[in-house]
Amino acid sequence: MVVMEDEEEEEEEENDDDDPDKKTYAVYLNHVAETPKHSIVCLICFLEKGKMKQIRKSSVEDHCRSLHNTPGIKCEKTGCMVRAKYRGDIGKHKKYCHDLKTGWWKKLRRHDGA
Ligand SMILES: [Zn+2]
Ligand SMILES: [Zn+2]
Repeated sequence: MVVMEDEEEEEEEENDDDDPDKKTYAVYLNHVAETPKHSIVCLICFLEKGKMKQIRKSSVEDHCRSLHNTPGIKCEKTGCMVRAKYRGDIGKHKKYCHDLKTGWWKKLRRHDGA
């Protein structure tokens, strides 16, 4: 028997695991983890086209200029060559790629058998 409840309970607790950005970056970081040290995965290609485009660290800026028509905004972290189109993307990149514990994304990895 179904009881219709009319109570309006507002659940506004933030559940971080439902954060769509977190899933997005988990996918991204799984690929980054498999990328050779001298290369990165272009964040702009990934966010805009869903493509995992590996680029040599030395040519990230050239890639952004020629493919994305912008030099991009470089991550401020020393040694990190990732560039994004928007400052907000860099903010998320820093949160997920640098602030969180390395390997957090593995927990979110889906078993897709690939
Ligand atoms: Zn790109
Ligand atoms: Zn970075």
